[in-house]
Amino acid sequence: MKSLYDDNIAQEFTTDLEYRVYTSRLLGGDPSLVLHGGGNTSVKSVVNGEEILYVKGSGWDLATIEEAGFAPVKLDVLKEMATLVKLSDTDMVSQQKEAMIDKSAPNPSVEAILHAIIPFKYVDHTHSDAVVTISNSVNGIENIQEVYPNYLIIPYVMPGFILAQTIYNELKNIDWETCEGIILHNHGIFTFDNDPKVSYEKMINGVTRAEEFLDKNAELVIEKYMPRADLDVVKLQTIISKEKGYDVFVKVNQSPLALHYASARNIKELATRGVLTPEHIIRTKRNPMIIEDSDIQKSIDLFEEEYLEYYNQFTSNEIMINPTPNWAVVKNYGTVSFGKDEKEASIIEDINNHTMQAVLKADMLGGYQSISLADSFDMEYWELEQAKLKK
Ligand SMILES: [Zn+2]
Repeated sequence: MKSLYDDNIAQEFTTDLEYRVYTSRLLGGDPSLVLHGGGNTSVKSVVNGEEILYVKGSGWDLATIEEAGFAPVKLDVLKEMATLVKLSDTDMVSQQKEAMIDKSAPNPSVEAILHAIIPFKYVDHTHSDAVVTISNSVNGIENIQEVYPNYLIIPYVMPGFILAQTIYNELKNIDWETCEGIILHNHGIFTFDNDPKVSYEKMINGVTRAEEFLDKNAELVIEKYMPRADLDVVKLQTIISKEKGYDVFVKVNQSPLALHYASARNIKELATRGVLTPEHIIRTKRNPMIIEDSDIQKSIDLFEEEYLEYYNQFTSNEIMINPTPNWAVVKNYGTVSFGKDEKEASIIEDINNHTMQAVLKADMLGGYQSISLADSFDMEYWELEQAKLKK
């Protein structure tokens, strides 16, 4: 992966935020680093004598972010929040909002506290495919340690206050002189520096190490398959629309990758091992439905039955999400993504493409292994997501 930082462009910048927007867009422009609103960045600055963290606001995409997309939050308030013993994510969000110096700005990212406690001016965070592919495998812990000997490595913890608190405790005994970055297992990577270019290039170099490891140990060869099965797409669309209660847009994917994936001997074992990075679960659910023959209704019934089992196993009275799948892997045919409109179906398809690649590569490292069922449930039924449903 090459640095796209252009000193000729950067020499025009005079403010911290101008640099922050520039390198955020460089990261956001590469879908192998962040997809559709994933990842976040920040810069610590001074406004009217007060230290302020400008952190990516929710609803903004790094690829297109502008200065207005950064939420300005009082740094000392965020640092103080990190020391709390207990804080619900709902309270965290409202306290972060309280601490903004411009109330019309977007809500700060849920990872704002984490950005605040890293004592460098620029902090960059991505969900790099290469990093999470290595991490999401049975030997992920050992392999990540090998690739990142000078990084702080954090076992999987759900995003939100508990993650910020975990890192706050870890940072007490850290030697910043030698720490090159932070890896969050099954989630992503952080780099940081007082210089925007250095922080960005630490990200590029960190991700390159993961890419080189994969090139050496998991080089993926996509075999050429022709579709060997047919699918009644209209029937599938009709059934999914009925189950979801609205007309869905369906997007069929018969790219070489999708065909390779759908042509595996046991697609159910292959494709139902969880998401690449936790936040994807909100878009895709943990798994796709699997269609192996022409009985589409039977396949949906089975998916929903298994979804209900998963819900019942972990619920403590959360509102159940509609159990209909958001995408399907269809034996010898390809994949199909369902969205409320074309945009949503395309986002889901993009995520699937990155996940399929990662699964195939991680299998070459000994086996793909995502977060557990229990951790998946906690993410899918996060109180912040439940709050949206209650509205
Ligand atoms: Zn993240």
